[in-house]
Amino acid sequence: MPFPSHADAVVIGTGAFGLSVTLQLARMGLRSVVALDRYPIASQTSPRAAGLFKLVQADELRTRLARLAVETVMHFERDFGVTLPYVRSGSLMVARTERHARVIEQEVSDAQRWGADVHLVSAREAQALAPFLQAESILRAAYVPGDIYIEEPVSLLNAFREAAELLGARIIGNVPVIGIDVRDSAVRAVLTPEGTIQTDIVIDAAGAWVRAVARLAGTDLAVQPMRHQLAITQPISGTQSEQAIVRIFDAAVYVRPCRGGLMWGGFEANPLPFDPTAHGDDFRIEMTPLDFGILQQCAESVRNVVPVLHDVPVQEHRGGLFTMTPDGRFVVGPVPAVRGFWVLSGCNGSGFSFSPALGRLLAEWIVQGQPSVDLAAFAPARLAGVVDKASLREAAIFQYTHYYEPLGE
Ligand SMILES: Cc1cc2nc3c(=O)[nH]c(=O)nc-3n(C[C@H](O)[C@H](O)[C@H](O)COP(=O)(O)OP(=O)(O)OC[C@H]3O[C@@H](n4cnc5c(N)ncnc54)[C@H](O)[C@@H]3O)c2cc1C
Repeated sequence: MPFPSHADAVVIGTGAFGLSVTLQLARMGLRSVVALDRYPIASQTSPRAAGLFKLVQADELRTRLARLAVETVMHFERDFGVTLPYVRSGSLMVARTERHARVIEQEVSDAQRWGADVHLVSAREAQALAPFLQAESILRAAYVPGDIYIEEPVSLLNAFREAAELLGARIIGNVPVIGIDVRDSAVRAVLTPEGTIQTDIVIDAAGAWVRAVARLAGTDLAVQPMRHQLAITQPISGTQSEQAIVRIFDAAVYVRPCRGGLMWGGFEANPLPFDPTAHGDDFRIEMTPLDFGILQQCAESVRNVVPVLHDVPVQEHRGGLFTMTPDGRFVVGPVPAVRGFWVLSGCNGSGFSFSPALGRLLAEWIVQGQPSVDLAAFAPARLAGVVDKASLREAAIFQYTHYYEPLGE
């Protein structure tokens, strides 16, 4: 098939965000949607995610979006005719300190007010839901029965891709966008080594490179990439996929069943800001420097609740880059200064799970003129050149280290 010369919309990036909006634009009737990736399709941060979805969120808007995302996954096969496996394991929030017990109680009461199904459970009930937990040191626990995870994150990406292609979208890997033609403050075309694609609509879903792509369009976005990593143990006898996801708030560590063993990851106190553009044009996410010592510290910090993490060899250690924003919110919507230029980024660690909802709402916005849920809080304009490098790093680190404590307590 020849390289396209025109498109109704060009999506830059084929991670969870890019593929989701590609699918939804095609579903909403755009005839020629083209998604481009500088590397193989869906090969960078998204396939390295933990695959966790979380219905209890820090505010009402994200709670609503999280519900929409989970519903989109659960109805995917019905709506798109493509299989998307997921596990409805439910999840537990666990605290071992008084302070974090209060954080959980507050989250439960807020989330219930916003319509989420979540309730406090005893330590013994928590252990019954996730038998790899030790009940003795649990001070407070809450249960979210509707939480899900996707065992192998690549299956979400494959499902988005297959469904989008069935609807006529073209998804092309190994073609970098090297320029964006902007004239009279409007997008006209996207430039690649394979040729130029004329288009009025460009969506920047370039993950850790989102800022570099924004600069191609003559705009800026204060987004700071930040490393995050996880590990998966060898199979552990007694572990089953339906056992609950566990989030230990006081240690900022998460654990879930995976491949017959357990996956764990954590939000360390001194995270690593990491700008891929400072590491050469051919930097790929697999080159992100990993540090298993940090995961060992995470495991150590939860030793009395998940002791098994210490006894089992690890089968996989992987990592990638979050796109952090100074206020911890996504970046979704149009860039007012460049007509036709849209952004879908600023994951702050949750882009995988929100992608089904945000891709859908952004497509509504582009095609129908407004999204069915107000996304003004995520406006790209708030990040256009507002923050200097040092304060951006500082704010991004604050957001990363407060992933489980968004109240900042
Ligand atoms: C270890 C780990 C665990 C995580 N766990 C979870 C989780 O459980 N739940 C959750 O919700 N989130 C999780 N996340 C976060 C989640 O992975 C990200 O939010 C999500 O993958 C972001 O997707 P993306 O599309 O922005 O980025 P990516 O998947 O990186 O996609 C961006 C794409 O843009 C392409 N690109 C860049 N520049 C160009 C260019 N110039 N031309 C063409 N293409 C370009 C890149 O090659 C890349 O493929 C986790 C992340 C990590 C690292």
